[in-house]
Amino acid sequence: MTDVIIVGGGPAGLSAALFTAKNGLSTTVFDTDETWMHKAHLWNYLGIESEDGTAFTETSREQVDEFGADRRQGEKVSEVSRNGEGFVVTTDEDEYEAPYVVLATGADRSLAEGLGCESTEDGVVDVDVTTETSVPNAYATGAMVRAEEWQAVISAGDGAAAALNILTKEKGEHFHDFDVPADAE
Ligand SMILES: Cc1cc2nc3c(=O)[nH]c(=O)nc-3n(C[C@H](O)[C@H](O)[C@H](O)COP(=O)(O)OP(=O)(O)OC[C@H]3O[C@@H](n4cnc5c(N)ncnc54)[C@H](O)[C@@H]3O)c2cc1C
Repeated sequence: MTDVIIVGGGPAGLSAALFTAKNGLSTTVFDTDETWMHKAHLWNYLGIESEDGTAFTETSREQVDEFGADRRQGEKVSEVSRNGEGFVVTTDEDEYEAPYVVLATGADRSLAEGLGCESTEDGVVDVDVTTETSVPNAYATGAMVRAEEWQAVISAGDGAAAALNILTKEKGEHFHDFDVPADAE
């Protein structure tokens, strides 16, 4: 069993994976490589002056891989269901279990609906600021939680928020992923 399963490898999913893998939670990411980033060129992502969206995705994948996430590229998730306190994730290859699941499937909300996550009147997945859904320990991030206002930096922020909330639950106290210059020496 892995600690965290993330469905989707766009900015939201990879950002969540970066935080959980970096901070010691075993992390599995499933992705079918249909991220909208392949259509984008970034001039509005703080800290990046100008970058092709596919190049951004490649760098993000490398960053996540370096922290040891198990990134299962091309493996499609067909269902996410409850299993006691945790979840069973069914793909076209196998079944996987985890106590936490982060949904990051872009504007596709079908897995969240299948899991029973409540929606807002606007038809988006209903989450709080931690991005936790109405199903405890299931998080929804990125384009699926907004009717519009789809931007990479917002999705990445959602993924980070989900991961930090999971880390806080696991550590039993508020978790801060703070590094200082000396850490890089
Ligand atoms: C033409 C265009 C230009 C854009 N330009 C900009 C821009 O200049 N700046 C900017 O900030 N944003 C831009 N965007 C928006 C930006 O691309 C999105 O906001 C961002 O990609 C959303 O990230 P996400 O992680 O929420 O979803 P996505 O990037 O869509 O990632 C979702 C991932 O989940 C995977 N997935 C879905 N279902 C499954 C499943 N069942 N199993 C496994 N994997 C699954 C998909 O294959 C995909 O890789 C642009 C979008 C478009 C279409």
